[in-house]
Amino acid sequence: MKTLKNLFLDELADIYDAEKRIVKALPKLAKAASSTDLKAAFLAHLKQTEGHVKRLEKVFQSFDQKAKGQTCEATVGLLLEGDEIVAEFRGSPALNAALIATAQKVEHYEIASYGCLHEWAGLLGNKGAARLLEQTLEEEKESDELLTKLARATSNEVALGGGDGTSMTTTRTKRTGGLARNSRTPVARPKQSLVGTR
Ligand code: FE
Ligand code: FE
Repeated sequence: MKTLKNLFLDELADIYDAEKRIVKALPKLAKAASSTDLKAAFLAHLKQTEGHVKRLEKVFQSFDQKAKGQTCEATVGLLLEGDEIVAEFRGSPALNAALIATAQKVEHYEIASYGCLHEWAGLLGNKGAARLLEQTLEEEKESDELLTKLARATSNEVALGGGDGTSMTTTRTKRTGGLARNSRTPVARPKQSLVGTR
């Protein structure tokens, strides 16, 4: 009979795998970004994400379990979509807005996962684990809010009006970038994929 404890441990293994994939993807997102603020935000979240992996290891430990990941197909899928969008928008004024959208989808997945895990740890009577999961949950929410701010401050405006998105000033220039490509045309995945091996 599978109970909440089994569900909790399954989801813990899922998010552990997701976090490790995100650690590998964030430097690539930072490299792809043309906005210096966005680059810095991705690199700052990379540091936090390394902490999320360590926190999860402590959570496993607090349940007397060895830390073990289980392929998170949702994160694999989100990062594959990220690969496509980066390839499609590289060199275009909408690149940073596209990167933010990719990152926010990942953050929302994490927020949903940590929200459940935090709740369940409490129900399972493990206050220490609940506290650790709540800390990460708060960092994911802050990261999501920061991405919204960056989108509103610069990236969406640049995407709307053109420009290269490298500076904070949002002068509207005639759209010059952009790949003249039908969005339905399949795009070759970049060599530096956001997704690690499954
Ligand atoms: Fe995380
Ligand atoms: Fe995150």
